[in-house]
Formats: sequence, C-alpha cells, structure tokens
Amino acid sequence: MDTLLGAGKDPMGAAIYDFHKTGKAGKLIVHSSMFDDDEIPVADLFRKFDKMPALEQKALECATGNILDVGAGSGCHSVALQEMGKKCLAIDISELSVKVMQERGVDARLVNLYDESFVGQFDTILMLMNGTGIIGRLENMQKFFNRIKYLLAPGGRVIVDSSDLRYLYEEEDGSLMIDLADEYYGLLDYQMEYKGILGEPFDWIYVDFETLSYYAEQNGFKAEMIAEGEHYDYLAALSIK
Ligand code: SAH
Repeated sequence: MDTLLGAGKDPMGAAIYDFHKTGKAGKLIVHSSMFDDDEIPVADLFRKFDKMPALEQKALECATGNILDVGAGSGCHSVALQEMGKKCLAIDISELSVKVMQERGVDARLVNLYDESFVGQFDTILMLMNGTGIIGRLENMQKFFNRIKYLLAPGGRVIVDSSDLRYLYEEEDGSLMIDLADEYYGLLDYQMEYKGILGEPFDWIYVDFETLSYYAEQNGFKAEMIAEGEHYDYLAALSIK
C-alpha cells in the first residue's frame, strides 16, 4: 500500500508529463469492471483556480498555515495555493508527476501518504478530486486515520472531497438497489491506460459523508460538512476530537 509509481507503470503520470512538456496529451483512459471505459481530459488535471469546481475553490480558501497537498498530481491546487500566497508541500507517488510539479515551481516530494518515514506537522491536509480515493478500501480506514493523526499539527484538519455514489443504484421510486452482502457501494476498481502504458489495477473508494463520519468517530476524529455540491458531492473537514 505504500509503494511508489515508476515511469513505466504510471499512465496518469505519463499523460501529465506530456501535457506539461508539449501542451497536449493523448487519451487517458480509465477502465473499471463496474462501468464502460471513461476518459479523463488531461487538460482538466491542469485546471486553474477559476476553472475548478466550487468545492475545490472552497477547499483552497479554507486551507491555512502549513499545508500538505496529498496526491497532488499535476500540482494544480498547490500552484493555486502558492498564487494565493499560501505555504504548501505537495506529495505524490508518481515520479513523473512529482518531476512536473518541481518544474512548475511546486515544493513537491515523491512520498506515499502511508510511508511512516514521512513526518511533518500540517495545519491543513488537502485531499482533492475524490480525496477519499487514496484510502482505497473501508478496511484501510484505521490505517488512514492513524497516518493523518500523526501528520496533523494541534488544531489542524484534513479537508477532503468525495461523493455518495448511491445515485448509481437508485431506482426511480428512490429506493436503493444495493445488496448488503456485497462490498461497500462506493468501492470501485480502476485501471488507467495511456499510450500503451497499462497501470496496475487499484482500489479507489468514494465514501458518503455518513460513512466517513462513522469511521471518523471510531478513530477519535470528528467529520464536519463544509459544503455540499450539486450532485451528491461534498467537502468535509476531519479533525481530532
Ligand atoms: N489532486 C490532484 C490529482 C488527483 S489524482 C487533482 O485534483 O488534480 C490522484 C493522485 O493521487 C495521483 O496523482 C496519484 O498518483 C496520487 N496517489 C495515489 N495514492 C497515493 C498515496 N498513497 N500517497 C500519495 N499520493 C497518492
């Protein structure tokens, strides 16, 4: 779980690298056993503040003090934070993305959030673009909360966005077609592909606010809703109780 992604195994990093170097990129494809292939427009990974969804803008506005941008990708949020005069460290497991961020002037390090040798005290830990994804599975919740407990400065908080995927299973009468014996309904499996580079499949979880609050409580945290989006999406803050 605390591995890093080298260039040959990293489709998203390769796409980010191409776009950074040339201003364009090929198709970044997402495969999943749950739905048809999807495409992530690579330009969107370089979105500027005014093109960001309102929840992300809100997250950046709320970020204070010593900030950690987790899974920072192209560094879009870190760049915007720097432009706002805020102090930010970006981490990512993608070698290529970290290289791009460093070339863009972001203070970026090749670090996996779960690597216990990474230490620091942050007032705000940002996890954006379905930030709960990095938790991977509900079974990892305790491990996740232990890590952020360790990385938060006193009074600090994690600001994270996610969505309630219940709408994918909702019948017209509002009832839910979810088999309780199945895995949690927000758990997806993803595999990325770019220009013939096929990444390893990975778990990527969307966590509804109620479930996030439950695990927060179990681990000595409290979850607060900061804002709700227009389509089952939300922005929340996690802080130590
Ligand atoms: N936050 C960025 C990128 C989101 S994509 C944006 O909003 O545009 C998710 C990113 O998280 C990818 O760049 C991926 O390499 C990184 N990532 C995945 N697991 C991680 C982990 N355990 N620690 C740090 N980064 C991780």
